[in-house]
Amino acid sequence: MALPRAFVTSVVGSWPRPPWLIDAFERYSKGALDQQLLNQYLDDAVKLAIKDQEEAGIDVITDGEQRRVSFVAFLGQKVRGFRVVRVEELHPSAREIMRRHKAPLTLWRPVIAGYIEDSIIALDEVQYAKRVTQKPLKVTLPSPYLVMWESWHAQISSPYYPRPEDAAEAYVRVLRKEISRLIDAGVAFVQLDEPMLGDLLEAEPDKPDRYKRVVSEIYGQKYRGLRDEIQLAVDLINEAVGGYITSVRVGVHLDRWPAEDSPVVGYERLAPHIFDLKTKQYVVEYKHPRMGDPEEFARVLPSDKEIGLGSVDVRDAGRVETVEEVVAHVERVAKHVDPARIWINPDCGFAPGMYRAFPRSVALEKLKVMVRAARLLRERYWWA
Ligand SMILES: [Zn+2]
Repeated sequence: MALPRAFVTSVVGSWPRPPWLIDAFERYSKGALDQQLLNQYLDDAVKLAIKDQEEAGIDVITDGEQRRVSFVAFLGQKVRGFRVVRVEELHPSAREIMRRHKAPLTLWRPVIAGYIEDSIIALDEVQYAKRVTQKPLKVTLPSPYLVMWESWHAQISSPYYPRPEDAAEAYVRVLRKEISRLIDAGVAFVQLDEPMLGDLLEAEPDKPDRYKRVVSEIYGQKYRGLRDEIQLAVDLINEAVGGYITSVRVGVHLDRWPAEDSPVVGYERLAPHIFDLKTKQYVVEYKHPRMGDPEEFARVLPSDKEIGLGSVDVRDAGRVETVEEVVAHVERVAKHVDPARIWINPDCGFAPGMYRAFPRSVALEKLKVMVRAARLLRERYWWA
């Protein structure tokens, strides 16, 4: 299916889960529901997530990540070497630590508790989604730098990988095999989720950002300094996608979920280093009021890169943006970036973790506004 020539609409990943699915997950984790029945609930939830995106008219869709307990913890469900645990198992005061640093992590957590071995990460999700939709598919995968920070635990993981970097390298090898499988399966877009890189926006050369502080306390990791952290993220991602970027569109998703006192600044602060990434598209949160002006990012974006512009807020369920507001937001970027390189998406997934409550009806309205804005923009720029 051909994509529009400009202002392609997409989503970042997760879609609000129906309450009956969360209920089924709970019963399954207590042993009160068998795998076969849970799978039926999951299949139904994926159909619903896909139908919602089709109804909204989104060009490149996902399966809504309905099968994942969270965008990163699901590695514990899929990849040998990882386990998924409640956050309190990693640190008894985890919730207090998250409150203190104003950095809430998802409550189900991944942890490396063995040697990481090749496993299917998302191919099975894609195979099911392809049975129920003809639309081009985006697949989200946890990025290696994120996985290193969010799953290497000083006590639990060190018997297998003495340093977090060793675990990241092992995960990169699995990721490369999975990307190759996803290309063979015909996916349109591989997106590496990299909030830990996005969070560095709030870090200083010698002072980690909110999320690194939380993870340092809960998992027992150490901050390497801003420049080295960015370089490590870039190296790991480039190693994961090297050789694949001509076969499939690869993007990296950056977000930081600003706190009420977070600095007002955007991802331009990580330039020029983040432009060393080989990934084609930057799927970036820019609608949140503390993200600053997307024009600043657009101004420095290299001409061979695309922007997936966060254009509706995934935190504010009390208000749906207007079409005019989204058009004006995108036009700020279109002053500097060719419309063929601008994609329109929400800031983030609507439900990165299973328990994140966001009304599905509001999420659907937000997608519909994005689609109407994209059509208007295509007419305005003569790309209809
Ligand atoms: Zn996000």
